[in-house]
Amino acid sequence: MSRLLLCTDMDRTVIPNGRQEEALNARQAFAEFCAQPWVTLVYVTGRHLALMQEAIQEFQLPQPDYAITDVGTRIYHQRENRWHSMSGWQNEIDQAWLNVEPKQIIELLADVKGLKLQEAEKQNAHKVSFYVDLDQLDEPRCLSLVEAMMASLKIQSNLIWSIDETSHKGLLDILPPKANKLHAIEFLKQFLHYGEAEVVFAGDSGNDLPVLVSPIQSVLVANATEAVKRQAVQLAKQQGTQQQFYQAQNRSNNDGNYSAGILQGVFHYLPELKPSSTGN
Ligand SMILES: [Mg+2]
Repeated sequence: MSRLLLCTDMDRTVIPNGRQEEALNARQAFAEFCAQPWVTLVYVTGRHLALMQEAIQEFQLPQPDYAITDVGTRIYHQRENRWHSMSGWQNEIDQAWLNVEPKQIIELLADVKGLKLQEAEKQNAHKVSFYVDLDQLDEPRCLSLVEAMMASLKIQSNLIWSIDETSHKGLLDILPPKANKLHAIEFLKQFLHYGEAEVVFAGDSGNDLPVLVSPIQSVLVANATEAVKRQAVQLAKQQGTQQQFYQAQNRSNNDGNYSAGILQGVFHYLPELKPSSTGN
């Protein structure tokens, strides 16, 4: 009997909140697929837990079994309708930041023009997040400036840059080096003893790229931008992971967009899981 660890990004991947149309009944079909007992569903998101749950309600998404939230800095397990943070993951990412408190990073960067600290609920012990005013700081200037200033703390860190398409603000996350979507998925895969062929990831944008082009079987939904599609193809080729990369296609009625695209990708890797239309 096959089993599947299905990991998916939320915004503009399983949530149809992009400009493109969603296929009719796409989320219903996705929910039915995920309800099968051998599917373990994991949301992998930049959102924190409360914002993730809000999206589940608002868009009537299936409840996941696990949640990798806050850009990979937290992993939660759902048991008896309650969320439990996995402390093993926190210990794992803590190693590089043992000697630093987030408030030291915040103080260090407090006077940088164009940076504004995000709301308290978007910060945690392994995540310091700023809004970036794009009129004052573009990506290369922001990253080089922050990197140079962070050098004085003598810790390893990862700077994640993204753009909030709805508000057109830059977002900067400062994280311990191991705290990312890829490493979190690998941690969960090992923890739950899944094999390579039993894991599929789906995503749509720049912060999904490290997973999309990794040895994890991945799906880029069709509603991704042309720039991300080009980048993913190029990087997968460079890393020799083309066999573990699938670009969902809109063949008819937007069947490659969002959750329909996720399932298209799952059936590409695991055709035996495709529900038979004849009922056999
Ligand atoms: Mg996304």
